[in-house]
This record gives sequence, structure tokens and C-alpha cells, in this order.
Amino acid sequence: MAYDFDLYVIGAGSGGVRSARFAAGFGAKVAVAESRYLGGTCVNVGCVPKKLLVYGAHFAEDFEQSAGFGWTLGEADFDWATLIANKDREINRLNGTYRNLLVNSGVTLHEGHAKLIDPHQVEINGQRYTAKHILIATGGWPQIPDIPGREHAISSNEAFFLKELPKRILVAGGGYIAVEFAGIFHGLGADTKLLYRGELFLRGFDGAVRKHLQEELTKRGLDLQFNADIERIDKQADGSLKVTLKDGRELATDCVFYATGRRPMLDNLGLENTGVKLDKRGFIEVDEQYQSAEPSILAIGDVIGRVQLTPVALAEGMAVARRLFKPEQYRPVDYNMIPTAVFSLPNIGTVGLTEEQAREAGHKVQIFESRFRPMKLTLTECQERTLMKLVVDADTDKVLGCHMVGPDAGEIVQGLAIALKAGATKRDFDETIGVHPTAAEEFVTMRTPVAG
Ligand code: NDP
Repeated sequence: MAYDFDLYVIGAGSGGVRSARFAAGFGAKVAVAESRYLGGTCVNVGCVPKKLLVYGAHFAEDFEQSAGFGWTLGEADFDWATLIANKDREINRLNGTYRNLLVNSGVTLHEGHAKLIDPHQVEINGQRYTAKHILIATGGWPQIPDIPGREHAISSNEAFFLKELPKRILVAGGGYIAVEFAGIFHGLGADTKLLYRGELFLRGFDGAVRKHLQEELTKRGLDLQFNADIERIDKQADGSLKVTLKDGRELATDCVFYATGRRPMLDNLGLENTGVKLDKRGFIEVDEQYQSAEPSILAIGDVIGRVQLTPVALAEGMAVARRLFKPEQYRPVDYNMIPTAVFSLPNIGTVGLTEEQAREAGHKVQIFESRFRPMKLTLTECQERTLMKLVVDADTDKVLGCHMVGPDAGEIVQGLAIALKAGATKRDFDETIGVHPTAAEEFVTMRTPVAG
């Protein structure tokens, strides 16, 4: 049967666009449907604008610390509307870049909501198209728990477009988004509280990293409240919000921001017209080659809920394009040693196993740690400290994990990830000459284990 397209991609986010462009480059006839914004979550309401806001928040401490270097500044004043307008302009530019990338690679762009009609057919803007393969790359959407008053809360989708910086904000959650946005709002001058339901935020990260970040954020004056779970939100006559916790406490705020995970975006996708199955958590179930239970339909990225990170979606998108249209170049995605950063202030950078995971997996471990005051701060009043940690297999000498909390941790961990992927041992680290004077050189000068 002749199809209209070899590949029809639903969703022009990181994974979908990468897959479409590669497939078109391999000679396939490709279309992409997008109902919202080109570039998906990452470009529009995720990584990119978030990082711009983090830069914005960082200026607060730069101004403060500049005094130690002899600068005298006038009173600093921050204007949220300017930051948001400039951010919007940059995101518009990136939307245009994505459009050009698609069009120049020969991909047909359909703007509208695509719905599956059957395993080989989609409908969009009243038109039907057939395709040999359909790739679902519709991503995720913030999930706010079903509590009374949830309609008064915002998610990251709205946070990027607030008209004003709230005077008081309460961030609920203890994952990437909650920690990053609490740092943004606090840095920009809002009275910020972070509420997390458990004992300590950032579950799944190395214990020392979680504790260190808790201490650093507290030093900065961010109000961290753990074992704090919201029961209800009530709007008050003056427009403020009353937040009642499950333990009965009441908090007053102007904005409640939920960052409690993301669900797969499957709304009105027409999955019921196909044999696609969902896993227990509601994400699309795929095999190791991203094929769903319906052989002609594949899925990648946040909608499969494996690792919700842009670079992972990119790798998955490329793997799909290669497998379908350039099988001789196909390589499965390696999910080991995925480096990641939390753009809190200070940043977390991490790759490989945490100490807890290494011990649980049965490794005999040696732990190396370095804690120090970054050189830049020695001329300032700031008492912030950096943490670096190596988890080493005592039997094989292999470095199993690298963890850092401190300035530029995200930048530093990228290079370490290459070393760990290549199987570097602690001896390789020791024999590597440091770059002096940097913080990163501490990773090659840790000599004595702090724990075994
Ligand atoms: P996460 O899954 O990282 O964290 C969710 C947080 O919300 C956890 O602390 C969780 O607590 C808590 N939570 C979940 N359900 C509830 C509930 N019903 N009530 C109260 N608290 C709850 O999700 P995020 O929304 O922060 O981010 C989504 C994903 O986006 C991340 O997992 C990450 O993959 C990606 N991301 C990556 C970034 C980066 O690379 N820098 C930046 C931002 C997002 P508990 O631990 O107790 O379950």
C-alpha cells in the first residue's frame, strides 16, 4: 500500500523534531504535527526559559559579592516584566529556528491537533493522512494533585508567564522543578517557601548531595519545610491564598506553585483506535526499540516516562530514525551514566550511581569527598561551600558515580560523564593533571577516602 508519509511524527518537541529531521535526512518522507509550540516543553516552558530565569536570579548574589572585589553599586532594582519579555523574545526566536530546521530538512509541518484514526492514519485540521510508521512524541504535562482549591494553584506552564513576580510564593514538591523554581523566585526577591511532603527533598539523589543542598539553601534564607503536605487552598477576600497543611498548620501566600511530577500528554490522541497499550503508570508502553503494542506506532521521550530529560529524548528520536531508515547506523540508546544537573542555586551535577545505589547493588565502595569554599567567594562575605563526591568500587577501582553541589556543577559533570562512560578508574582520575586554579580540579585530587 502507498502511504502519504513514511513517518508521521506527532509532537514537535525535542524528540519528535530530532527524529523527523534525521528520518528526512535519510530520505524518508516525513510530516510532523504540532498543536501548541515548536520545540515542545524544553524550549517553551522548560529547560531553556528556566535556565534564563536562573541566570536572572543569580545576579542578586553577583551584585552582593562584587563589593568584595571593590565595586560599589547603586541600589539594585529588578523588573520581572523586562525579564519575561526578553525571555519571550528569545523563545520566539528559537521557535523560528525550529521551524527553519524542519522545513529546511524537507519535513512537512502540520500545525494543529493530530488524532489517530487507525494504526496507519491520523486526522489533523479535518484532513486525513496515512503513514507507514507513526511516532508519538507528545511529551508530558504538569500534574497537580486533586486537592480542594487546586484551581488556585499554578504549574511551571503558568510560572513562565506570570504578569508580576509574586511577593510571597509557596512551591510544593521536592523534585527538579520545585527546587529550581524555589531558587529562581527566592533569588529574584520573592518571599519563598518550599514545601515537600517527605523527610528530605530530591529523593533518588545522593544523600550527601541532598543534605548539602538543604544546608546551602537554608543559609541563603530559602524557607524549606519538609514533612509538609498541602490539604487545601482557599482564596481569601483580599485575593491572597490560605494554604492548610495536613498537620493543621495554615500558611498565607500570594501564589501556590505545584511541581509534583508530570503525566504523559495523551489527551484526545485517539489511542483507543489503535492497539497501543499503557503501562501501570499510564505512560505509553514500548519495547526496547520504542515500538508500542501496535506495530506501526512508536513512542519516545516524556510520553514513555523512561527518563524525562531532553537529551534522552534526542537520543531516542535518533535511534528511531536510524532503525527505521538507516538500520546500518542503528545503535540502541545506552541509559547508563546519564549525567544530569539541577539548576538550583548552587547547582547540582551528577552522573552514575549514588552511594546508596552502589551499596544496594552490592558494590564494596570507597567514598571520596571534598568540601571547600569556592575561591571566588574568598574575597566576599558569602559562606557558601561546594561539595564534590566520588563513589568508587573498592574491588575494581572503577569510579561508579560523581556528584557535585556548587557553581557550574552542571558544566563540570558533562566531562566527567565521558570518563565514567569510558570506564575510568580512580587511578585514571588520580593520574589526570588538574586545571589550576579551578573547582573542577578537586575531582582529580581527592586522595583519602572518607568512608569505605
Ligand atoms: P519530579 O518527579 O522530579 O519530582 C516530583 C516531586 O513532587 C517529588 O518530590 C515528589 O515527592 C513530589 N510529589 C509527587 N506527587 C505529589 C503529591 N501528590 N503531593 C505532594 N508532592 C508530590 O518532578 P518534577 O515535576 O520536578 O519534574 C518532572 C521531570 O522533569 C523530572 O523528573 C525531570 O526528569 C525533568 N526535569 C529535568 C530538569 C533538569 O534536567 N534540570 C529540570 C526540570 C525537570 P516524592 O519524592 O515523595 O515522590
